[in-house]
Amino acid sequence: MDIKTCPICLDEIEPGMITKKLSCNCKQEYHFACFKQMVYKHGNFFIKCPMCRIKNTNVDYPTEDPKENILLMLHTALSKNIKCNHKTKTGNKCKLKPIMLNYGCCHVHNSEILPKENYELFSKWLYHILQTNYKWISILYLLDFGKKIIIHKLNDNKVYGIESILNHLYTYINIQDEINIINKHYMEGIYDYFKLEKPCQKWLRYCLDNRTII
Ligand SMILES: [Zn+2]
Ligand SMILES: [Zn+2]
Ligand SMILES: [Zn+2]
Repeated sequence: MDIKTCPICLDEIEPGMITKKLSCNCKQEYHFACFKQMVYKHGNFFIKCPMCRIKNTNVDYPTEDPKENILLMLHTALSKNIKCNHKTKTGNKCKLKPIMLNYGCCHVHNSEILPKENYELFSKWLYHILQTNYKWISILYLLDFGKKIIIHKLNDNKVYGIESILNHLYTYINIQDEINIINKHYMEGIYDYFKLEKPCQKWLRYCLDNRTII
């Protein structure tokens, strides 16, 4: 029997594992987590195949389940047994589980949580943003901004697509006098414009320094 291995970590690819095939002709499979590390490093899905150096254009969702697709693109630890990064009032470490895209916090320490019914819309936003060539810091802001637009502006039971989030982004971009330079200051202005709370700076720092998404 053939044992398949992932060319990045050289570990076995076991049956049932979620993997990724790139668009080149190498026919090589990667652990999805190893593919994700390349995406994080490069800043989008259009990475070069480590074998033939041809750029990947396969941006398909890894599974049919939007929640799974979101989790697969976030920091691997989030789907494992880690705890909220806050302390309780008595100074002990919070024992609750962190919620995805919740700044590493549980539902008590940050309650602005993406509702389940919006997982599909958010997964589309996430996979869209990872096709742009913005800098990592802008990608982080855009993901957080998209989550907040979904929660605060697209919550009237209608069915929305990512064009509704993009519409908010482009509205902001077009009312600015300055040329479209996406930087920290520029991205923070978008929160003021739509009267949204800015992202947790500790979260931003962590995701920037570790080039990850939690
Ligand atoms: Zn691997
Ligand atoms: Zn290749
Ligand atoms: Zn907590």
